[in-house]
Amino acid sequence: MLGGIEAGGTKFVLAVGSSPTEIIARHEIPTREPATTLAQAGEWFEGQGSISALGIASFGPVDLNRSSPLWGHITNTPKPGWSNCDMAGYFAERFGVPIGFDTDVNGAALAECQHGAGKGASSLAYITVGTGIGGGLVLNGAPVHGAAHPEMGHIFPRRHKNDLVFDGICPHHRDCLEGLASGPAIKARWGASLSKLPADHIAHEIIANYLAQLTSALIAMSATEIIVLGGGVMKTPHLLDRVTQRTSELGAAYFPGGASHKIIAPGLGDRAGITGALLLASSA
Ligand code: ZN
Repeated sequence: MLGGIEAGGTKFVLAVGSSPTEIIARHEIPTREPATTLAQAGEWFEGQGSISALGIASFGPVDLNRSSPLWGHITNTPKPGWSNCDMAGYFAERFGVPIGFDTDVNGAALAECQHGAGKGASSLAYITVGTGIGGGLVLNGAPVHGAAHPEMGHIFPRRHKNDLVFDGICPHHRDCLEGLASGPAIKARWGASLSKLPADHIAHEIIANYLAQLTSALIAMSATEIIVLGGGVMKTPHLLDRVTQRTSELGAAYFPGGASHKIIAPGLGDRAGITGALLLASSA
């Protein structure tokens, strides 16, 4: 039996499965401080019988370098108490099983590529637009790591001509993509979530314009076949269509193979993250 943890900033989703797609039991706990949260997760797994491997798809930033002493740790996060938390080490010690570890969005990208919207593709990017903006990328079937992991939410888009005054809310860069187009950035400018603003409100055009700068950059840099756009903000009616349209206007149709790029909604819905965690357990 495989164990999986989708570790998010507000909740942990826990699951056990006989395979990554055959979930036997699932449970959610709120994300409190690390000691309480990890202990609660450990107790739940103990109640499910014995697991042979555990996969963790975590919020970041995280250390993914297997030769680093900090592998499996959350590194420097603004989330109180979680900086330098040894997530993988805690569960390795408690259960004595192999641990798979990656970012939540790389996990989701892997799941969508193997079992969701990208089934049959060898490259896929998964972007979540919600409290923050993050992205994972699978190329030739494997999640992309390197010096660290992709931080797609922190690219610097060209400002929209009707959005030159707002400072942006990213604590590190102010007006990076996350600082301009995440859920809290939308609320900070217009006082409501995008789905609550009228359909003819300029916010829809502005946000689609920013997100399309990420999708077209991804196509230009990685030639990924599929881009999956998920997260709470993407549930806004017609936003996916607007981003697709704007990506095409920005010139994606020019790129070789442009016609075969697809920008789509998650095929696994809200199960992408936990399925990714079970896939990480399976490869561990
Ligand atoms: Zn930023």
